[in-house]
Parts: sequence; C-alpha cells; structure tokens
Amino acid sequence: MSIIRDMAERDFEQLVVCRDRARGLRSVIAVHNTALGPALGGIRIKRYRTDVEAAQDAMNLAEAMTYKAALAGLRLGGGKSVINADPASQKTRDLLIAHAEYINTLGGRYIPAVDSGTTVADLALIADHVPLVSSQQRDPSYFTAIGVFSSMQAAVQQANLGELRGARVGVQGAGHVGMYLVELLADAGAKVVVADLDADRVRMACEKYGATAEDPAEILAADLDIAAPCGLGGTVDEQAAETMKAPVIVGAANNILADAGVADVLTRRGIVYVPDFIANAGGLMACEAELRCDDDGLEDRVRRIGDTAAQVLREAASTQCDTVSVALRFARERIAAAPAPAPGPYFPR
Ligand code: NAD
Repeated sequence: MSIIRDMAERDFEQLVVCRDRARGLRSVIAVHNTALGPALGGIRIKRYRTDVEAAQDAMNLAEAMTYKAALAGLRLGGGKSVINADPASQKTRDLLIAHAEYINTLGGRYIPAVDSGTTVADLALIADHVPLVSSQQRDPSYFTAIGVFSSMQAAVQQANLGELRGARVGVQGAGHVGMYLVELLADAGAKVVVADLDADRVRMACEKYGATAEDPAEILAADLDIAAPCGLGGTVDEQAAETMKAPVIVGAANNILADAGVADVLTRRGIVYVPDFIANAGGLMACEAELRCDDDGLEDRVRRIGDTAAQVLREAASTQCDTVSVALRFARERIAAAPAPAPGPYFPR
C-alpha cells in the first residue's frame, strides 16, 4: 500500500511490476512524468533484498530522470527500470528478452538505455524486441564525465576556490564515468585522489593518470577541496555531511544524498553541492542525440551543463536556499511551461 501512496504523493504516472517465472524475471518499470516527452532511463540490474526495495529504487531514479531531462533542456520525460537479479550470475538472454517484452507493452512511453548492470550489447539485444532503444551504439559515460567536470568548474568558482588546477579532488568510484573524470581532472592539473572497491581500477588511475589512492571508507571524509561521489548513490548521509571537510561536492552518482534532509545540512555548513541530476546529465544528452542520430554540437551542449550549475548555485546563494530545492523549482517550472506535444512520434523511425 505504501508504494501506491508514494506514487500519488510524488505524482507518478505509471508503475509496472513484471514477473516471468519461467525466465526468472522480477522487474519494475517506473514512468514518473512524460509532460516533456517519452520517459528515457536506464535499465539497472541489481540484487535487491526485496522487490519493494527494487520498486523504490526505480521510482527514485525515475523521478530524478524527469528533473534531469527538464534541466538539460531535453524534450524527454523521466523513467527507469530495474531488474532484481545479480548481473554477474543471473543476467541471461532470456531474462533480458522477458524484460524487453514488458517494456514493449508501454508503447514507447518508456525508452530504455544503459545503466549499472547492463551494457551496450544488452541494449542492442533489447532493441530486437523494442522499437526505440538508446545506448545501442556507445556507452555515454564520457559525456557524463564532461558534464560533471563542467559542473566542478562552476562550483569551484562559487566556492571561491579559484580553479581546478592544484585542487585536491577525491573521486569515489573510478568506474566508467569516474575514470574519464580522473583523466579530465589530471589534464586540468588537479591533484586526484581515488578510491574504489576494485583495486585494479585504483591501480589504473594511479599508473595512467598519476592519482593517489585512498581507502574507500575514508575518501569522503578526507582532506579535499572537492568530493566526487561516482560509485553508487546514497553515500552522502547526514553523518558524512556533518563531518566532511570538502567545501564542494560534485559527482556522477545518481541520488548522491541519502535523503532529503542532507541538503539542509550541506547548506548550513556552507558546502557547495551541485545536484547530481544537473551534473550527470551529459549521458542522457548523449542518449538523446543517439536517438535523433545527430551528434552535432553535443560536446558543447554537455559543457554548458556548467552554466546551468552556476545559475542554480547563484540562485541558492542569493536566496539562502539549498541547491536541490532551487534545481527542483527550476525543473518544475520548465515542465509546467511545456508546450503540448506535437502529433506523431518525437523520434521518427
Ligand atoms: P561503474 O559501475 O562503471 O563504476 C562504479 C565504480 O564505483 C566501480 O568501479 C565500483 O567498484 C565503484 N564503487 C562502488 N561503490 C563504491 C564505494 N562505496 N566506494 C568506492 N568505490 C565504489 O558505473 P558508472 O557507469 O561509472 O556510473 C557511476 C555512477 O554514475 C552510478 O551511480 C551511475 O548510476 C551514475 N551515472 C552514470 C552515467 C553513465 O553515463 N555511465 C550517467 C548518469 C549517472
């Protein structure tokens, strides 16, 4: 019952709970809002303790996609799907096809893309069963890293730290996005500190880009100018927010703040936080460009994420509001002002 109440309170359009016993599928497709266009969002494959937990994660991620698309100026809505399975041992062709068949029942309201636990090859397989699928041609992580980097440049200005050259930046999670970010930061002359649960990723960041290693349990509390959570979400909880030394937080992870109250703690402590749904929108922009088969100006548009970040940081500082509330207000204003959708499909095929 609480999920139904949650749907109403957060104004969700649709939640599809999928089961296919024969093919071992337990998944959820969450469509939050399609006022601006069809809901584009990744397929996450992860082992959740319960299906309720899976549904809640899908909803949190889908809602963030709505705001991400709106602030990135895209004519897309917000959605996400999660398959409750271990990607290493339970991801089979049949499992993916079973999920794809459920996606197809939505008639294009939800456009799948890559996410944690899925690959470009998985999306290509899904495209055999769903007419419109993104991330079939490339992993969008590079573009995500560019947007995070541009947001860091804006945050550094706002926090009066000067520039990224010489800044101590702690990257928590040197995966697809994190490693590109380490490279961009090293090129910009930042002092990069890296932590990852996977020792090989840390070694690679140190050997290739001159980063130094930190313990994953210590990185957010370390002596940093910028903390960059780029692993999974929820790593900045109230305790971390109360104790961290970094005056700036900008990262790629979705839903970095463990709960809504954390934004207030950051504001009270004067920590400049660029909301993740602004900073990590570069991947979504790349997925949207892929659907339109048009990369013209993509990298420049992704770099302009820094302008959006700067606008939100300035407004938050001048109104004494937290940055998440300001970003949500801007996003909701854009959604409310959305023109009626043009007839016919937005992405012609
Ligand atoms: P990834 O799985 O390639 O990398 C994540 C890395 O973080 C892994 O190397 C993992 O070992 C490490 N990690 C996980 N938990 C950690 C912890 N507690 N401490 C240190 N390291 C930890 O994922 P990715 O594609 O790089 O995405 C990273 C984050 O960014 C995810 O939250 C994802 O949802 C988000 N994101 C990614 C994209 C994209 O384009 N890939 C776009 C938007 C948002």
